[in-house]
Amino acid sequence: MQVKRIAAAAAALLTPTSAVGLPKKQGRGWCATEATEGSLRSIAALRETELASRSDPSSLRPRQAIVIPTYLHVVVNSSASASVLGEEALRVQLDAMNERFGPHDIRFALEGTTRRVDDALAPGPYGGVEAEPMYAYWRETHAGGYDTLNLWFYSNFPWDIFGACTLPEQNYPESRYYRDGCHIASGTIPGGEIADYNLGLTAVHEIGHWLGLLHTFEGYSCSGPGDLVDDTPQQAEATSGCPRSKDSCPGVSGADPISNYMDYSSDPCFEEFTPGQERRMRNMWTTLREGRTA
Ligand SMILES: [Zn+2]
Repeated sequence: MQVKRIAAAAAALLTPTSAVGLPKKQGRGWCATEATEGSLRSIAALRETELASRSDPSSLRPRQAIVIPTYLHVVVNSSASASVLGEEALRVQLDAMNERFGPHDIRFALEGTTRRVDDALAPGPYGGVEAEPMYAYWRETHAGGYDTLNLWFYSNFPWDIFGACTLPEQNYPESRYYRDGCHIASGTIPGGEIADYNLGLTAVHEIGHWLGLLHTFEGYSCSGPGDLVDDTPQQAEATSGCPRSKDSCPGVSGADPISNYMDYSSDPCFEEFTPGQERRMRNMWTTLREGRTA
């Protein structure tokens, strides 16, 4: 229960509007990204335009490379060694992101980094963290507009999860840009201390959210809209670890997409975004984020 409360607290810090009442998470989820009514509405609208362009292929723009300006922020506890989240660690993390998004012609261009030593902002999962100092820190360090990716890494993550991020929304207010971005535990970066989750793919998963993707098990059901992407199979349960195969909806075609970055599998399991997810990310970029500078 405590884990869920802490995850909920992390989600509440991030959401620009009140979180929508989604079905309860089953088991221990490592990501606290939560869909808001606004983000669900915006993502559903993206799906509509994709369905419409299917019947009118001339409306499709040619595939262009997407280069996303990126800032990496580091906050470390004074007890952490100086090498934690150092320059080399961040470079390797950025490489992992570019390697995994590369096949989709999406690239992250590093624009800057910040580093801060602060025990109150990086207290560890049970240290307790106040909303206001955290917001003040995000406000101070967030750079760029809605088209700029800000990733915050914590040596001692304030919540007992691995990461959380914001989903894009139409009409997201500029006054809240500082809350837009992803928050990630340092133990998940390549070589980090969280076994099986330390290939840097929590960041890839969280950036998937930032680019408009929901969890493949969204809704936890074998029917209904699920993740609003048509080529990811229906999935009633999040995956834990890296099972050989799994099918939580045996009556529906397709096994669970355990190798999909938007499931909860461990890093060695993670291999792909589907063509439908790529299309969603590209459509989201041009519709909601591209050109929205600060
Ligand atoms: Zn997630």
